[in-house]
Amino acid sequence: MTTKRISFSIPAARERLAALGLAEEEIERSLELVKQKYGPVDQLVPGEYIIELPIEEAGVPVYTNQDVISVFYAAAREVGENGWGWLSRAGLTGLIHDRQGQYRGPAIDDLPGLTAAEKTSIKALLGLTEAPPAEAVPSFTWVGPTGNCASGRSGHQIEMIVVHFTASGSGTGTVSWFKNPQSKVSAHYVLDRDGKILQLVKDGDTAWHAGLPEDLVRNDTIRPNSRSIGIEIVNWGPLRKDGNKYYNWLGNEHLGAAVEAGGKYWEPYTEAQYKSLIELVAYLCKRYNVPHRYPLLGPGTYYEKAQDLAAFKGVLGHSAINRGKSDPGSHFDWDRLLDGLRASG
Ligand SMILES: [Zn+2]
Repeated sequence: MTTKRISFSIPAARERLAALGLAEEEIERSLELVKQKYGPVDQLVPGEYIIELPIEEAGVPVYTNQDVISVFYAAAREVGENGWGWLSRAGLTGLIHDRQGQYRGPAIDDLPGLTAAEKTSIKALLGLTEAPPAEAVPSFTWVGPTGNCASGRSGHQIEMIVVHFTASGSGTGTVSWFKNPQSKVSAHYVLDRDGKILQLVKDGDTAWHAGLPEDLVRNDTIRPNSRSIGIEIVNWGPLRKDGNKYYNWLGNEHLGAAVEAGGKYWEPYTEAQYKSLIELVAYLCKRYNVPHRYPLLGPGTYYEKAQDLAAFKGVLGHSAINRGKSDPGSHFDWDRLLDGLRASG
C-alpha cells in the first residue's frame, strides 16, 4: 500500500491540511485517521502530528487478490470454462494464499498464457476498460464443449463472422451432430428457430465450419476457420417444390412456410432468428473489432480472389468462401442484418 506521509500542526488542523494541498476528501480522511491515532482533533493540544494517509496511484485502482480471482472465474464462466484453469495459465494460482491482500501481480495485459480476448473480458470485468452496455450482450446458453474444434486460433485474430444455415430441423439435433466426433463439424453458435442462442465452441477456439475442400485450397493465408466465428442458423435451406408441396433435402415434406429467391425455394428465417442474429453479430463485431461490412463481390458470392479474401474483415456467408455451398441462401436478408449492425452503433 502506497502512503503519503503528512505532518501538520494543531491548532487549525483543517486549514493546515488544506494548505498542504489536500483535497476536501483527503482532509476528511486525514482528520479521521488523526482521531483514530490521537483522539478527537478539537481536543488535541497544540503540536505536531504525523499520520500515513493511504493514496491510490492515479488511474490504477487497487484490487484484492480475491477481486482478481473472482473476475477470472466470472470471465471464464462467460465462455463455459473453468476459472481455475485461467488462473493457472496466467500463473496466478498463488493468489489464494492471501485472498485479502492487495493484488501485486503483473498488469492483466502482461499476464502470460491468456488470449487477447480473455484479457479483454477480464479487464472489462475489472472496470479497466469500458464493457459493452449490458443490454448489448445477448444471452447465450452454453451447450458445449465439443471435440470438433481446435484449441486456439493458430495465431490468427477474429476477423470474419461467417453465417450458415444448418440444413436441419432443430437446434438440439444440430448441437448433437456438432458434438458427434464422426461429423467433424461444428460452429461457435447455433441460432434456434425461437431465436435462442446456443454456444458450443468458445470464441477463442477454432470451430470447423468453413474449411476449404481439398480441391479449393487456394491460399494458406485465407484460413477461414482460424480467422472467423461461425454462426449456424437452424433452417432447412433449399426446398424442392413438387406440385404445391415442398420437400427438404431428406425428402420429407416441409410443412412450414416457403419463399422463392434466386430461382430456388427456401425455408424463410424467423423474425426471432433475425433479431438474435443482429444482436449476436453486433456484439461480436464490437467485441472483436470486426467491421460492419461484407465483401465487395457480395456477401454470398464465391470469392475468386484468394488475396482479397485473405485480407477481408467483416461479415459474409459460407457461400462467399466455398463454391460448393449455398448458405445462408439467396433468401437471406443481408441488408436487414447490415442495417441492424449499423443501427447498433
Ligand atoms: Zn455452411
